[in-house]
Amino acid sequence: MTSSKIQSTHCGRMAFVYVRQSTWLQVKENRESTERQYNLRERAIELGWPASRVEVIDEDQGRSGSTADYRTGFQRLAAEVGSGNVGIVLMLEASRLARNNSDWYRLIEICGISGTLIADESAVYNPREPNDRLLLGVKGTLSEAELFTLRTRLYEGRWNKARKGLLSFALPVGYVRGADGGWAQDPDTQVRERLDYVFNSFRRHRVVRAVVRDLRGQGLELPTRVCCAKEGYGSLVWKAPTLGAVFRILHNPAYAGAYVYGRWEYPGERRSPKTGKAIAHVRSMAQWPVKITEHHAAYISWEEFVKNQDQLRQNTNDEWSRGVAREGSALLQGIAYCGICGRKMSVQNRAAKERRSPTYLCGRGYHEGDEKICQSMVSRPVDAVVVKAFLSAVSPMSLGVAARVLDQVEGDLIVQRRQRDLQLEQARYEARLAERQYDAVDPSNRLVAGELERRWNEKLERVAQLERAYAQAEQESAWSLTPEERAAITGLSQDLPAIWSAETTTNQERKQLLRMAVESVQLDGISQAGQIEVQIHWRSGTVTSVSVKRPAPGEGSLKTPDEAVSKIHEMAPRSGYEEIAARLNRTGLRSAFGRRFTTQHVGYICRRDGLAPGQRHSGSKPKKNSPKGSTRS
Ligand SMILES: [Zn+2]
Repeated sequence: MTSSKIQSTHCGRMAFVYVRQSTWLQVKENRESTERQYNLRERAIELGWPASRVEVIDEDQGRSGSTADYRTGFQRLAAEVGSGNVGIVLMLEASRLARNNSDWYRLIEICGISGTLIADESAVYNPREPNDRLLLGVKGTLSEAELFTLRTRLYEGRWNKARKGLLSFALPVGYVRGADGGWAQDPDTQVRERLDYVFNSFRRHRVVRAVVRDLRGQGLELPTRVCCAKEGYGSLVWKAPTLGAVFRILHNPAYAGAYVYGRWEYPGERRSPKTGKAIAHVRSMAQWPVKITEHHAAYISWEEFVKNQDQLRQNTNDEWSRGVAREGSALLQGIAYCGICGRKMSVQNRAAKERRSPTYLCGRGYHEGDEKICQSMVSRPVDAVVVKAFLSAVSPMSLGVAARVLDQVEGDLIVQRRQRDLQLEQARYEARLAERQYDAVDPSNRLVAGELERRWNEKLERVAQLERAYAQAEQESAWSLTPEERAAITGLSQDLPAIWSAETTTNQERKQLLRMAVESVQLDGISQAGQIEVQIHWRSGTVTSVSVKRPAPGEGSLKTPDEAVSKIHEMAPRSGYEEIAARLNRTGLRSAFGRRFTTQHVGYICRRDGLAPGQRHSGSKPKKNSPKGSTRS
């Protein structure tokens, strides 16, 4: 693909491999990187240069790259290129040739004049082609971020090792490293048997939660390796079984005898609100970059492992809503985050017959095996306040928002255009660059637009117009909005409230609309008693904070047990609140929250149910209860 750029005029000249580590530390600690650099020699030969005309320049090993002045290797390279002797320059990550931009651009310039190609491990660039120049220019800009480059290099080094199955990571429990460095099953019979038990139990129950119940019922603990403490690192400990632990065992392909690397990717699009770290995405099995089956002794067959993954995926779909917008009335499904611990909140839908609104739930504690969860709240009031904020943000009054939408669309177009250019050469690398360069523009917005086009064709025809405008832009490479299109978008934002409340609009569609404007919503139902703090993070980057009253118990979720209520009804005509409370507590009855009854509880029920207020005062304090009570009778 890339080699079509290589002409015989190039092969007739020299190929230079430019090898450089920027500090002595990297030379010492990063042999893998050095090895990769020397591999470029092989690449030059593969690309068609005879070995005799491939030269490696490594005089700059161990010198800092911030300026070319003291780097004779770089200067020699520049001189050779300038004299037209060089057909191609190969290096790792084109950007690392020189971190000083003026040096770098000069070299691209010289390469362009002398018709020299530039290549790295994955691509060949012709500096005479505008697209390639753009890509190289971007790389040069990026290279200023030394940390980034360094990290990438370390990262690629890891991959190089992993591809050979040699990168060693902490082995999952149940395996130990043999004398030859290979994987062996743990000689500890109990460990092996316990793992077998887990797989067996899942074979029977097909549900992780049931496996945990099974283990707990049997009083069985799970083996685990100490991995975050210095003390006793790698040693074996037994812990109470948790959902997370069983999930990890069932998901881990190592138990099916496979050496897998890269199950997770860290695209950096989403970051944890708490730690700022990139949130990992699980790659699907088909996308695992390194997979060596029958690498070591297995606990289950590969076939069973694959089957288990299907089952787990299915269970997940049944149990927890996340990812795509679904039917269901909890509108923040998939974009609600816990304001306490930062995790994504799941939605718990009530059975239809309960006729209660769904609940947002942060299952942190639960997943870790506690009896209680981190926090939960009824979705209805939270949804209402977010929707209100959303609709007022896009109402006809807020022309500013419409303008921002326009800006965003134009920003998207620029990104698209750029991406089309870059994709020609290196789709993978391009994604990273675009992300860094256009951090402010969220590419997933485009996906939302695509979704809308597909499902909203009749209603949002104007969005489709926009799509066509994109396609047109691609043809003509002119990509500014026409006045008509501008008007169309403004119109769309004005119609939103009507579309929103239309009967024909499904909840799924409402969610999609909401996600157009809202990046995420953080919910904190703990910090303020009786209140839920709602933080709406708009895609525009602004944040709106609102507070909403938590529905009182009885309004939605919890109810005083019927038995206690009827007791109160029975006693109220004759007894005071204190007496009633004492009686209820003696009989072992508890409030909706499982607490002992107080006079306040009893008073609340009496007022709520309009119980004969005139005769109740033998034990209670009349001042608190009289105003409402006495007006009623
Ligand atoms: Zn939480």
